[in-house]
Amino acid sequence: MVANDPGQPTLSSDAAALAAGATIDLDAPGCVLAIGAHPDDIEFGAGGTLAKWADAGCLVHHLVCTDGSKGTWDPHADTAALVQRRQVEQREAARILAGERGRDQAGETIFLGRVDGELENDAATRSEVVKIIRTLRPDVVITHDPWKRYRLHPDHRNTGQLVCDAIVGARDPHFHKDLGLTHHRPTALLLFEADLPNHAEDVGATLDRKLDALLAHESQFESTMRAAGGDPDQLDAFRVRITDRLAELGAPWSLEFAEVFALMVDL
Ligand SMILES: [Zn+2]
Repeated sequence: MVANDPGQPTLSSDAAALAAGATIDLDAPGCVLAIGAHPDDIEFGAGGTLAKWADAGCLVHHLVCTDGSKGTWDPHADTAALVQRRQVEQREAARILAGERGRDQAGETIFLGRVDGELENDAATRSEVVKIIRTLRPDVVITHDPWKRYRLHPDHRNTGQLVCDAIVGARDPHFHKDLGLTHHRPTALLLFEADLPNHAEDVGATLDRKLDALLAHESQFESTMRAAGGDPDQLDAFRVRITDRLAELGAPWSLEFAEVFALMVDL
């Protein structure tokens, strides 16, 4: 890396080592599978990237591992109703990200349905994710970085590990033969919440769609957006916070707005 090259990111020393081959903007894949622990995680981590790729003709699939049943501050909430509501919100968010493509050929939105907070990277769950990867056959998989340091939420950590392990299970023909499905090797894995980002996606053109998709998760207005009752001023403040964050992420890469990832290829 050339120290004063404005096109290169400015990163801490260990990050710089990893980022020696740092890249900006993959070619839009034909098919992507985004996998999140909870409804709204995918939109936070990669919503702008997914919207951009959808506009380029990419088929975007969503897989949500848990039911989101802990996603409320109301101790008396009807959590069964919350689960149903969050599925509706997730489908709407996926439709927004799919944009024009979503009108005629949106990807699938799949719910693994594990209890929020209790996701395990166990054999049965891995088999389910392998089955989905071998069925949908994505070129790119996107999920949480399981190696993110100092993260508390077990579902985020476990989703990342589950997906990494499931990619190995999906790509090698002698794994999961019981599924009766042809093995499949994606060409790239993008990890959001990256501990050491080495890749950025320019999301300047789709920032608004990412924000709109996030705000489709109305059940999260109080706990996530800090906008109890959908207070318009607080929702605007949320949009500003996310916009500022994407600008902050983009600055080292000379991008106005970016989502950043750990990119793994040669899977
Ligand atoms: Zn989450």
